[in-house]
Amino acid sequence: MEKRCSKCKKLKNINEFHKDNTKKDGLSCHCAYCANKRSRDYYYKNKNKIKHSHKLYKEKNKDEYKEMHRIADRKWYYKNRDKKISSTKELKEKNKKQQKEYRKIYSAKFRKYQKINLEVM
Ligand SMILES: [Zn+2]
Repeated sequence: MEKRCSKCKKLKNINEFHKDNTKKDGLSCHCAYCANKRSRDYYYKNKNKIKHSHKLYKEKNKDEYKEMHRIADRKWYYKNRDKKISSTKELKEKNKKQQKEYRKIYSAKFRKYQKINLEVM
């Protein structure tokens, strides 16, 4: 079965058309080649524009971002300063425990993974 592409006006096998459920025959009115070309063209045409607008946005908000982060960091620091100092020792202990636990889990997992790999080979 063949279908005419509405873009390049060529008769092509329906295999060359993407599916489109919104269409009556369930196929896109453009062939795959034209559809690809269209999105490629769109990308190339807008590549610079897209890049540029990202850059502009960043530039425009750079100082604002910096300031925001600075304030947030400071706020966090003051809020957690006392907690931080008193809990450092605690945290270390906790981390040690966690690392031990993690190593245990990890090595078990690794063994399992190795076993699977060996079975595959
Ligand atoms: Zn076409």
